[in-house]
Amino acid sequence: LAKASGRNCARLFDPTDPQSSDESENLAALLKIAIGQDLVSLVYQPIQNVASGRFEAVEALMRLKMLDGTLVPPSLFIPVAERTGAILELGRWAIRTVCTELLAGDHVRLVSVNVSPIQLKTPGFAASVATILGETGVTGNRLAFEITEGLEMEMHSDILRCISDLKLLGIKIWLDDFGTGFAGLSWLRLIDFDTVKIDRSFLHDCATPNGKAMLQDIIALVRNRGHKILVEGVETDEQMALMREFGIDNVQGFRVGRPAPAESFQAHRAIHKRPFTVRKSA
Ligand code: C2E
Ligand code: MG
Ligand code: MG
Ligand code: MG
Repeated sequence: LAKASGRNCARLFDPTDPQSSDESENLAALLKIAIGQDLVSLVYQPIQNVASGRFEAVEALMRLKMLDGTLVPPSLFIPVAERTGAILELGRWAIRTVCTELLAGDHVRLVSVNVSPIQLKTPGFAASVATILGETGVTGNRLAFEITEGLEMEMHSDILRCISDLKLLGIKIWLDDFGTGFAGLSWLRLIDFDTVKIDRSFLHDCATPNGKAMLQDIIALVRNRGHKILVEGVETDEQMALMREFGIDNVQGFRVGRPAPAESFQAHRAIHKRPFTVRKSA
């Protein structure tokens, strides 16, 4: 199937298709060699402060290519990596890479990294992060870890302990894709997130009065709990104006910037002789 569909990477593996287990196994095998063969990389998407127009941070997003160069989307390979445990090595690789290619060079002030619940549940994860920080000379307050609320993710005491260890390192903890799962509210009750990222589906719905009211209610809930608010998936000028009207702290989305390789942020510094923090939106 993967070969028949050529470069259409979305056909590589359909988890709902029982015949696709071969593809899943191929992907599992690919993930084992991905780091060694240089098949995995990170791209970074800017996060902008609405009031000042400054870039506050970038989010690291993982990319995987097959041996023929075809890209596999994270929605396909992350679940396989979580199932096989490959996420542990990939996750450590991602944190180390963020530290060496962006933070050590002082190109960007803050980088957020997506972290899987599997990583948080694994004994020694916080210690391995501390080791990476020590070896790369980066301080923890330059990192934020994004955690996605998910159905699968019951509140594990190991996870809470790990999160408090990460906070002791100075790492900020953000809640990703808020509003997409059932667990979000319990998470808000148990963890003091620095920032809550509101899932982009709420922004897409807010063209209707009902959808707009819903987004306002969610914003009020998050704000009253004392968290900063980031809205994901801002694509248009109209949506950006709405974010100003709502007093949203930070935004992310194609309207602000698409994910780009580290070089583009390094180049920014070379040209402007300063870190990637200041740029007024057009
Ligand atoms: P996420 O963390 O919620 O990341 C945001 C996703 O939305 C990214 O997709 C990004 O490219 C996309 N996006 C950003 N702005 C817009 C926009 O304006 N419109 C639309 N339509 N999309 C936008 P991507 O890179 O395909 O990542 C998908 C998911 O895969 C991520 O969702 C995250 O949950 C997961 N992921 C990516 N990298 C990693 C990683 O290193 N570790 C783990 N555990 N998960 C990762
Ligand atoms: Mg994220
Ligand atoms: Mg996510
Ligand atoms: Mg998200």
